[in-house]
Amino acid sequence: MRRDMPADRPDTRWMIDAACGRRLDLPWLADSTKVAPDDALTMREVCGHCPVFGHCRDFADRVGASGGFWAGTSYDARTRAHPGLGDVA
Ligand code: SF4
Repeated sequence: MRRDMPADRPDTRWMIDAACGRRLDLPWLADSTKVAPDDALTMREVCGHCPVFGHCRDFADRVGASGGFWAGTSYDARTRAHPGLGDVA
């Protein structure tokens, strides 16, 4: 039986295939100022091969993510560079 998501809740089923789920040793949720450059580079590489990259980027934008590392990008650094970007409408 297929269940559709309610219209007001973003679909998260794509997360099952997230490549970061197999690299839980990396600091995906850490403040970017505390992430070692090598770890940031490795996370970017993992994202670059992730089969759900587009879903991840769209989800982060849709929910107004203002922290963590999504789709090859640190969203807290992105929000600092562009104030208001992470605000939920
Ligand atoms: S693109 Fe998103 S889901 Fe895929 S590894 Fe990166 S952070 Fe995880």
